[in-house]
Amino acid sequence: MRLILLGAPGAGKGTVAKLLTQFDGSIQISTGDILRGAVQAGTELGKKAEAFMKAGDLVPDELIMGIMENRLQEPDCAKGFLLDGFPRTIPQAEALKELLKKLDITLDVVANIEVPRQEILNRLTTRRTCVNTQCQAIYNVRSQPPKVEGVCDKCGSPIVQRDDETEEAISKRLDTYDAKTAPLIDFYRQEGLLLTVDSPSSEGVMNAIIAKIKKS
Ligand code: ADP
Ligand code: ZN
Repeated sequence: MRLILLGAPGAGKGTVAKLLTQFDGSIQISTGDILRGAVQAGTELGKKAEAFMKAGDLVPDELIMGIMENRLQEPDCAKGFLLDGFPRTIPQAEALKELLKKLDITLDVVANIEVPRQEILNRLTTRRTCVNTQCQAIYNVRSQPPKVEGVCDKCGSPIVQRDDETEEAISKRLDTYDAKTAPLIDFYRQEGLLLTVDSPSSEGVMNAIIAKIKKS
């Protein structure tokens, strides 16, 4: 399947993407994971992106499009892909549309995951992420804690609160989402690709997406 996952930070895009990769072997492409990996590795890209990310601001569109133009042409994308955290702005969506046309790729669906704002705030302040860039597993200290406190179940690395998950950066990210990313909902509705999903669980969201794809 080829799809875009839309939704506010904390809506569960990454979790749903991981569940969907198990369904048919499509790969997850998370611009957030790519950027965090670049920051940790200290690459040119990482140096350019770091300050924007720490502040809860978006990284400039040109940088993101450079990453995605290369990424979508890697051979593993032939199996299908789940875009998680991209596109994030109307210019990125317009550029993606052109890029997909050039690569002769069509999208199946754009799934917009709707979660109430209070629930988003609860989730983000209790979220913890594995520091290992190869892993980046996500936990929640209330609803999905690791077996051993502070340690990743999968790889044994420490799990921490992300720099951009302080209360100040979170409210900034939500404002940025409302201003820059929420307009994509109408953009994709007009493209005839939008599926709105409001299931409270990630499994429920996954099932709604699979049902839609099987029908189309
Ligand atoms: P979340 O969805 O939880 O906010 P992500 O892991 O998707 O977090 O992204 C973390 C940060 O990386 C964002 O706050 C932003 O600074 C940057 N980022 C990720 N994807 C994009 C994108 N498509 N465009 C611009 N910035 C991005
Ligand atoms: Zn881990």
